[in-house]
Amino acid sequence: MSWGPATAGRRPRAVRAWVSRLAFGVARSALALPLLPPDASAAPRARLGLEVSLKPPPGMRSRSLQHPWEGRLARGMLVKESEYIRYVDEYRRKGHFYGTWELVQLLERAARRVAFRLPGSKLSIGELSRREGGPIGGHRSHESGRDVDIGFYMTLPDGRPYYTYSFADFDHRGRGLRPNGYLRFDDARNWELVAKLVADGDARVQYIFVGSDLKARLLREGARRGAPRAVLERAKAVLMQPAHGHPHRNHFHVRIYCAPADQGQCRDRAPFWPWYPGTPPGGQYSRITSPFAGLADP
Ligand SMILES: [Zn+2]
Repeated sequence: MSWGPATAGRRPRAVRAWVSRLAFGVARSALALPLLPPDASAAPRARLGLEVSLKPPPGMRSRSLQHPWEGRLARGMLVKESEYIRYVDEYRRKGHFYGTWELVQLLERAARRVAFRLPGSKLSIGELSRREGGPIGGHRSHESGRDVDIGFYMTLPDGRPYYTYSFADFDHRGRGLRPNGYLRFDDARNWELVAKLVADGDARVQYIFVGSDLKARLLREGARRGAPRAVLERAKAVLMQPAHGHPHRNHFHVRIYCAPADQGQCRDRAPFWPWYPGTPPGGQYSRITSPFAGLADP
């Protein structure tokens, strides 16, 4: 397989100006970072994985309209390939890589974070939405720019990161199904991804669909790595295997809630987790259970 270069054309002037302002902003905040204490020197790269907080330039404000299964996207933003992000080749030709501004920024932040913590990582992006949203072949949702399919981080048996042409299925032991028995589910990188997605302060995640066996693996990995209880709790709530349809043993499907600025035109339905960015109908949040219940399951 080949990754190929990013296909983005020349950017319009306003966007170029915005990008250079962004680059300057990042450089400036990097300079303003406090000096690291000596004992933190082992992880300077992780600390430089800056949480970039951006505001879109005027005219680039995306809008997610109605529901993910019957909706539209206005001024959708393209996820671009980069040092940290690749498209899954199978989906490259159709080019359904548009999402809301919030979702695209979330993916950028998550990809950077995993790559800073575990160098050599590339986030594998499947489909998001069409530029204008609406129905899209092979999906029952993905219509309003708030859904994205993400391929798992995977490795060869010797631990080297590996990328495939399409999504690959894994069993409960984290081994690739035939004919991909040589593949390994990368517990560490996939956990870091989930941890960042659920802890993000700007884009709030409602669901991460994934097979139950892989969910159990991820929570065990999080506990093993000493993840904060709140992160484990969120992960336990949002990671789920859908009751019907695709079992999600070969990719994550991530959905974010409507951005506060879109509420009114954009519609959410339960569950409304305590991190929902607004007030749920009736003021009732969904309950979450102990993150540690069930962690000992094989
Ligand atoms: Zn999906």
